[in-house]
Amino acid sequence: MATSYSFHPVALCNMCGALPETFHVLGTRLNRSQGRDPRHVRGAAVTIVQCRQCDLIFPDPQPVPASVLDHYDMPGEEYWQDNRAEAVVPPLMQARFDALRSRFDVGGQPVALDVGVGSGFSALAMMNAGFDVHGFEPIPQFRELALRTLGLPEDRIRLSGIEDADYPAESFDFVNFGAVLEHLYDPGGSLATAVRWLRPGGRIMLEVPSAKWLIARLINGFFRLKGTNYVTHTSPMHSPFHLYEFGEKSFQRNGEKLGYSVETLNIEVGVDTSMPMSLQRLLRPVMARTGTGMMLEAVLLKR
Ligand SMILES: [Zn+2]
Repeated sequence: MATSYSFHPVALCNMCGALPETFHVLGTRLNRSQGRDPRHVRGAAVTIVQCRQCDLIFPDPQPVPASVLDHYDMPGEEYWQDNRAEAVVPPLMQARFDALRSRFDVGGQPVALDVGVGSGFSALAMMNAGFDVHGFEPIPQFRELALRTLGLPEDRIRLSGIEDADYPAESFDFVNFGAVLEHLYDPGGSLATAVRWLRPGGRIMLEVPSAKWLIARLINGFFRLKGTNYVTHTSPMHSPFHLYEFGEKSFQRNGEKLGYSVETLNIEVGVDTSMPMSLQRLLRPVMARTGTGMMLEAVLLKR
């Protein structure tokens, strides 16, 4: 499917507000899987930069499709290649929401919002953990799949993007961004919206790709050895359409602007499907020890 893009120069770092002088060029990224030798892969390329002030990684200029729906015009079953034969939440995911629930000291059920319901498993895990769950999802077929296969309450899960969602200020105790922020063109603006929706003392939980992932650095090094400047960061014009990678400082600096602090931050090692498992088994303990795993998980606390 051909998607047409317009390219927008980035005027300010989306998370910390730094000027382009602070952006450092990391290299070139193609609009498809780059294989072992990107010089032999045909495709359109964008420049990938990193903000020196907060470590955020992003394409500059930013490629924006004519319609965001162009990126996700596929059946939900195809995008979410998970096993939903049984509507059971993965145990580790359930444990995360159970642990988070215990941090809330509110009378009755904490009111929660799931941003980008997606596969629906997070919303289900939040319900199981004892949250009073609301949510929205912009992609119609994803929402439909989550309602149909997981039995989520239809009247609670709106068909909407974050730009159009209109919840009253200070109406939630908890906002969840599970694997969402890296897909949004304006993650800083979306966090500002979420902070507005939260009561003081409310929390945001998020999971995003880490800007310090060891395997990305190794792949970049491999491309350097071949005499090229390609990098493996982000995938702004191909699946899974990641636009950003984040560092701890991205949230510390953003929190100074928006009025939240980083309550906890963990780096998860994760599993990459493009690297040989034998090599990953070797690198996993290194990534665990040095905090250079694939995913960054954080809980943000509104002041
Ligand atoms: Zn920045």
